[in-house]
Amino acid sequence: MSDQLSVVRTVAGLRKAVERLRAKGESVALVPTMGALHDGHLSLVRLARKKARRVVVSIFVNPAQFAPSEDFATYPRNIRADLRLLRKLNTDLVWAPSTSAMYPEGFSTSVQPGGPAHAGLEDTYRPHFFGGVATVVSKLFIQVGADFAIFGEKDYQQLKVVTRMARDLDLPVKIIGAPTMREPDGLAMSSRNVYLSASERAAAPALYRALKDAAAQIKAGKPISTALFSARERIVGAGFAIDYLEARHAETLGPINARKDGPIRLLVAARIGRTRLIDNIGV
Ligand code: AMP
Repeated sequence: MSDQLSVVRTVAGLRKAVERLRAKGESVALVPTMGALHDGHLSLVRLARKKARRVVVSIFVNPAQFAPSEDFATYPRNIRADLRLLRKLNTDLVWAPSTSAMYPEGFSTSVQPGGPAHAGLEDTYRPHFFGGVATVVSKLFIQVGADFAIFGEKDYQQLKVVTRMARDLDLPVKIIGAPTMREPDGLAMSSRNVYLSASERAAAPALYRALKDAAAQIKAGKPISTALFSARERIVGAGFAIDYLEARHAETLGPINARKDGPIRLLVAARIGRTRLIDNIGV
């Protein structure tokens, strides 16, 4: 276990720390997070470690990606527990800026992503979201100057938006997607799972089960619309209100009508009680 973990909170401190990490010409991988770390995040840190000699994890609950009606104020925060976990994984550096370090007085520039950011999925229900993500992620890339950045497939549209943005802006960082980590009953790990009551938690795996069955049915040759119809019934039957459940082209996120038209990704967002969960699966 390393006791070398350093935590920096200012851009100037970060620059110096990254310079030190880079002194021997070693590669750097960045794992952007909002903290409240779980095994899903830790799997990204492990993957980062495989890709690069040095691993930087950012922890920043980004106000720019929350609407006023959303859970910015109550979003789970536990930096001490996060640092304990990251130390165990031999993380080299944690970048944990304050809001004013990230968005100093007078901040007035933003990145507006297109393409997959307008797919009509998360963007329909959280119109502010990808602008906030793209702005903070561009800043993180520029601040850290990492060779690699690891993002979870759990947030599949976000992974595609960030990949497109890095390509469009010629950002010198390679984006790597990492598979979704799940609880033993299939529920995708998420910092927001702590919001679920016991009965909601018991119902929540229905989301993944419905996705899995729909994917199996489509693979077996059933029409996409039929497979999605029964998935919808199951999800609603478990107590969810569905924002969207869609089959999309896995790369462009554009609409897709048949399996022959390309690799398919099934994506869902649904609310149970006051919690909104998202998940997705490849076909
Ligand atoms: P967040 O802290 O929720 O912004 O997530 C930070 C990163 O962890 C994002 O790239 C997420 O896609 C990724 N992530 C979140 N949950 C999981 C999970 N269950 N499995 C793998 N990666 C995840």
